[in-house]
Parts: sequence; structure tokens; C-alpha cells
Amino acid sequence: MTFCFAVTITILNIMPKIKKDCLICNRISLIKKGENPYFVIELKSSYVVLGDNQFYKGYTLVLSKIHSSELHLLPKSSKQTLLKEVSVIGEAVYKTFHPKKLNYELLGNEAEHVHWHIFPRYKNDPNPTMPVWIVDKSIRNSEKSIPTKGKLKEYKKRLLLTIKNIYQNNIS
Ligand SMILES: [Zn+2]
Repeated sequence: MTFCFAVTITILNIMPKIKKDCLICNRISLIKKGENPYFVIELKSSYVVLGDNQFYKGYTLVLSKIHSSELHLLPKSSKQTLLKEVSVIGEAVYKTFHPKKLNYELLGNEAEHVHWHIFPRYKNDPNPTMPVWIVDKSIRNSEKSIPTKGKLKEYKKRLLLTIKNIYQNNIS
């Protein structure tokens, strides 16, 4: 209950600032309309979603609520909260999917809106020392890598449970 209370209060503090032609802002709009099937949880400074593809099982994104092309351009308070949230979500991904290693990436070359990619890397990774982007987009987005409704539901449920557990127990 403490978790729900804390999140409800803090959500009121930072309202999303949306830019119409931004891919990430559009995804956030879908979340607000209840139409983003990848949505996991809303935090104080961010929205958490699973990746469109699950080539790397557990691939998760943390989307800043505020549209900003650069991390340092965010207001100080939301920037600090956001960084903490990225750490918590990384921990949750790790504890949920048990990878060998996590990769955090903040790029924004295509969508200039601060968002982190959190990629779990596994023992059977074909290119363990290389960034995930070395795997061609057509493979990462192949039909085989798109989660079924059932898988998506299962991954979201498991990840959400771990996130709540981390916040409730204040163990991060
Ligand atoms: Zn945006």
C-alpha cells in the first residue's frame, strides 16, 4: 500500500509535456489513452514499457515524461528522479529475467526524446562484447521476435511484480 500511495502522490508532481511529431510522445499519448499494450507502469518521471520486439528477452524502455532531446536539459528534480528510476527498472529487469549482463543505452538519434533502452544480455548471446545494434533490425524485429499476447502479458506481469517488490522493500 505504501508503494501505491507514494506513486500516486508523486505522479501528480510531474505531468508529461508532449511534442506532437515525436515518436516517444506519441507512445506516451497511447499509454494515457490505455492503448499501448507494452505499457508496464507509470513512475514519477517516466513510463516503463516493454520493447516492441523481445529478441533480447526482457528488453525494456524507460521513457522520460518530459520531452527533451538531452538528459542535461531536463529540470534538475525530474532528471535525478529519472536516473534513480532507470536504476530501479534495470534492477527489476535483471531480477526478473536473470541475464548475464545488462546494457543501458540512451541514444535518441532517431527519436530525440530522452529514453533508455535496457537490454538483458544472455550466455548464449551470439555477439556478447558488441552492442545489440549489431544484430540487423530485420532480425530484431522479425516475426519470431515479436511477443505473442500471452508472452507480453506474462513478461509485463513478472516485471511489474519485481518493480513493486523493489519499491515496497526499498531494496534498491
Ligand atoms: Zn517527445
